[in-house]
Amino acid sequence: MKTAIILGGGGFIGGHLAKKLKSEGYHVKIADIKNHEYFQHSEICHEYINADLRDAKNVEMIITEGTDEVYQLAADMGGAGYIFTGINDANVMHNSALININVVYEAVRKGVKKIFYSSSACIYPDYNQTDPANPNCEESSAYPANPDSEYGWEKLFSERLFLAFNRNYNLNVRIARFHNIFGPQGTWCGGKEKSPAAMLRKVAEAVDGGQIEVWGDGSQTRSFLYIDDCIEAILKFMESEFHGPVNIGSEKMVTINELAEMAIKISGKSIKINNINGQEFFSKYGFQCPVGVKGRKSNNSLFKAKIGWQVNPDLYEGMKKTYSWIDSLVNK
Ligand code: NAD
Repeated sequence: MKTAIILGGGGFIGGHLAKKLKSEGYHVKIADIKNHEYFQHSEICHEYINADLRDAKNVEMIITEGTDEVYQLAADMGGAGYIFTGINDANVMHNSALININVVYEAVRKGVKKIFYSSSACIYPDYNQTDPANPNCEESSAYPANPDSEYGWEKLFSERLFLAFNRNYNLNVRIARFHNIFGPQGTWCGGKEKSPAAMLRKVAEAVDGGQIEVWGDGSQTRSFLYIDDCIEAILKFMESEFHGPVNIGSEKMVTINELAEMAIKISGKSIKINNINGQEFFSKYGFQCPVGVKGRKSNNSLFKAKIGWQVNPDLYEGMKKTYSWIDSLVNK
């Protein structure tokens, strides 16, 4: 039986990944600082350890000798409201860097056979994402570096950390840069949620004939990948010999207002979009509107070339499935 350890398996992507690996016959161990809020632990793993991975002693205990696969997904993260306001910068950098430093060290010591690291599209430089219609997120465009958030800088540092451990200690790494993964069993409220979940929640909460608030002027573009496609891409990547970094995301770009319109259409309600920006936003929330870069989408050429497979995302279907889940929580 193959063994997998999922660090951060109490979170959105880690929970889904654990469930998939368990269903494929792996012995799955999860370590997370919190319980999974939406999955029963027995549904997704054989062993669930509550531990803070910033503590090296915990990581030493969790990563066991000769583990086949480790998936490092634990990070202090959230959507725009969490990582772009600046108020969580110190924690984001400190917490995630500590976890990654502990994990690579212990993975080498214990002879882990393969390790996956989840980086982010947030590492891409600001200057290539100023045109909403034509952002450049090719893997090779990461340098000269200039991410637009400290979250992105930490991810870039940790990519380099994993790569250095690969070069100096033969750690068999797989590094992926996720672009906006969404779906059920993910954070949907509380301030750490990302735009699809935030949009779907607002729509689920709104009354027919009402309105929803959308941050920014709505013209900023992004691409979104449904969780099942993301999990499939991770597994294909792990099977390959390529170390990365490589993008895992969708190439289909939409504006944030188009995403909001899609959410409204799925709900079947008549809802108006209220774009809130600038001084109006500042007066209401006390910080600048955290919209991030003007445009961003995945570029999957390298994934196709190196792994010989590509995702085939259907944003509308993914949004529909996520809406049913969020709606069932909002209007239970
Ligand atoms: P998530 O927040 O749902 O999961 C992260 C998990 O890490 C959480 O369960 C959290 O409790 C755990 N964690 C945080 N600090 C910890 C600590 N000190 N000790 C133990 N556990 C700790 O996020 P997610 O969406 O599942 O993302 C997983 C990974 O993918 C993260 O590294 C994230 O940065 C990266 N990523 C995600 C996206 C996305 O769109 N979801 C995009 C880019 C990158």
